Amino acid sequence: MGASGGKLRLVLGDQLSSGLSALAGLDPSADTVLMAEVAEEATYVPHHPKKIAILFSAMRHFAEELERRGVRVRYTRLDDPNNSGSILGEIDRAIEDLAPSSVVATECGEWRLQSALEGWRGSVPLEILDDDRFIASRAAFAAWAEGRKQLRMEYFYREMRRKTGLLMRDDGTPEGGQWNFDKENRQPPDMGLFRPTPPLAIEPDSITSEVIGLVRDRFPDHCGSLDGFAFGVTAEEAERCADAFFEDRLPLFGDYQDAMLTGEPVLYHALLSQYLNAGLLDPLDLCRRAEAAWRDGHAPLNAAEGFIRQILGWREYVRGVYWLKMPDYAETNFLNAHRPLPEFFWTGETDMNCLRQCIGQTLRDAYAHHIQRLMVIGNFALLAGLSPKAVCAWYLCVYADAYEWVELPNTHGMALFADGGVLGSKPYAASGKYIDRMSDYCRGCRYDPKKPVGPDACPYNYLYWDFLDRNAETLSGNPRMAMIYRSMSRMAPEKRQAMAQDSDKFLEALT
Ligand SMILES: Cc1cc2nc3c(=O)[nH]c(=O)nc-3n(C[C@H](O)[C@H](O)[C@H](O)COP(=O)(O)OP(=O)(O)OC[C@H]3O[C@@H](n4cnc5c(N)ncnc54)[C@H](O)[C@@H]3O)c2cc1C
Ligand code: SF4
Repeated sequence: MGASGGKLRLVLGDQLSSGLSALAGLDPSADTVLMAEVAEEATYVPHHPKKIAILFSAMRHFAEELERRGVRVRYTRLDDPNNSGSILGEIDRAIEDLAPSSVVATECGEWRLQSALEGWRGSVPLEILDDDRFIASRAAFAAWAEGRKQLRMEYFYREMRRKTGLLMRDDGTPEGGQWNFDKENRQPPDMGLFRPTPPLAIEPDSITSEVIGLVRDRFPDHCGSLDGFAFGVTAEEAERCADAFFEDRLPLFGDYQDAMLTGEPVLYHALLSQYLNAGLLDPLDLCRRAEAAWRDGHAPLNAAEGFIRQILGWREYVRGVYWLKMPDYAETNFLNAHRPLPEFFWTGETDMNCLRQCIGQTLRDAYAHHIQRLMVIGNFALLAGLSPKAVCAWYLCVYADAYEWVELPNTHGMALFADGGVLGSKPYAASGKYIDRMSDYCRGCRYDPKKPVGPDACPYNYLYWDFLDRNAETLSGNPRMAMIYRSMSRMAPEKRQAMAQDSDKFLEALT
């Protein structure tokens, strides 16, 4: 039990960083760190069991590490009979037992919990500190956004490059003479020719094995497999995973960033977001390491820049948008999409091979890379007019890296265009042709990506045109959609009608 009068310092499951603001100035002789595994956080959506396991195990390891350093930790396990089931309940219990002088917290990642914490009224003062693990603070993003008509990531990213000096020359211009090498980063997979070194697999230790057993018992109805759990659960293990990425995969990260290949879930991607988002890795440090890999001649510029842009640009930008726009952001439904989620999102059982592969992999590994999330699953949800709320809840459940601050803008904004263009200037809608070019999925599919209509036609093809038709009133005025609407207007009316009929039939069968 902590000495009464010290501070109670809250550390949440995604705040597992030794440099966390809530831990700054900690006095081991007086203060107590509070950590709690609570049912409310594990079940507000039915998270993938691997996601719960990585977090609970990482929390237990983090608490052990603090204790090794002489810090007093009050840790509530999920199966503790006195567990109140919520973060606020655990704060109240700890105050009653320890009589601290105040509670210190770092701002929460999700609006839901942050507003609950802000609304908490306890018997001692609560201090909520900024989360300085991000490269841009919420205030800095708001200042950048102030007065701008459009919040384009590219301009935010350039400002971040200037601020951090990453990949910048002394004269203030970007290395390589351009800010962005995305055009070089769209190579299709060389079918069967390459086999990237698989990511480092970490063997579960006794703590992780115990947590896996607990999760299996307590969340039997949560969708997703616990088999083959190989995530790291400490900062040291996460660093080893990052080392392996920089060594083996960064050099081709750029070239094959958009490629998809059966049986290769990670390809040259980092598989690091679950560590970054839980606080086990530092984003700026990863960016610096990517830059160093380029300067040392280990990785080309398009790879280092591409990787840095994802973290310094996209990751910081979506967080900024989230805090700027919440809570209204989650309520918009620009395309008026209301179809419920098809059952196969929870089983992967569909004849569409691309979806079978990507959803199957997601349910197995709690991971899919960006293009699988955006251009296969998200694109399907967009074209089929699935309800944004249902789709966002699914994405929040199934990925080990999913927290609303990053999941929502990516799903609601980027994938579904439900925000009407806050994040992207046009919907990421594509026909089966895109998936055929960027993957080998169509080879193993009963549908034909080249056929526009008919029983064997790829559903993405007729759904794509039907989507444009259905949303013409809302989208045809968008200058970036003008060309595609012009092509549609030149299409033979019989073809349009056939596609509309096939779409109706398909969508009816879907629900
Ligand atoms: C519909 C949809 C939902 C998504 N949901 C999440 C989510 O819940 N959590 C999450 O962390 N990412 C999410 N993303 C972004 C991205 O898909 C993942 O960050 C990435 O796939 C993680 O795998 P990786 O570590 O191998 O990433 P890499 O492709 O190797 O990229 C390196 C790092 O860049 C960051 N990054 C890349 N793209 C983005 C992005 N668009 N937004 C934020 N960070 C990015 C991640 O931290 C990632 O680890 C989503 C994307 C889409 C299209
Ligand atoms: S043919 Fe269509 S449904 Fe089948 S894998 Fe290709 S894109 Fe997916």
